[in-house]
Amino acid sequence: MNPERPSNVSKNTNNNQSCAACKFQRRKCTADCPLAPYFPAENQRDFNHAHRLFGVANVLKITKNLDPIQRADAMRSIIYESTVHAMDPVFGCRGVTAHLQSQIARGIAQINNARQQLVQSKMDSKEEASMNKTGSSV
Ligand SMILES: [Zn+2]
Repeated sequence: MNPERPSNVSKNTNNNQSCAACKFQRRKCTADCPLAPYFPAENQRDFNHAHRLFGVANVLKITKNLDPIQRADAMRSIIYESTVHAMDPVFGCRGVTAHLQSQIARGIAQINNARQQLVQSKMDSKEEASMNKTGSSV
């Protein structure tokens, strides 16, 4: 049995609960089901999004040739991308990227503004100090 797969034995009366992918495809979910760790039965929504955007065959194709260590990250990407795409069918992840880029640009502008204020403040205090020196020497 896959250790990542949640155990529903104590929670459900149905010990053979299929994962969301197998439930959708109306097939028996086996212990070695490649999608079960990522699409548990109680999270049908994630599967529906991934299936709508990529299709089950493509999700399996994408993850099949990956190193098993990378598979979980790839599945998280697939789920994230398809969920964002479901929320924003026009821009999808590009909308998230554009929003983050504008936040970065705003942050950089704020940093540059703060640096200019700091430089100006240092110049003002040096000018003030030199005026005080020349004022006291006269
Ligand atoms: Zn399954």
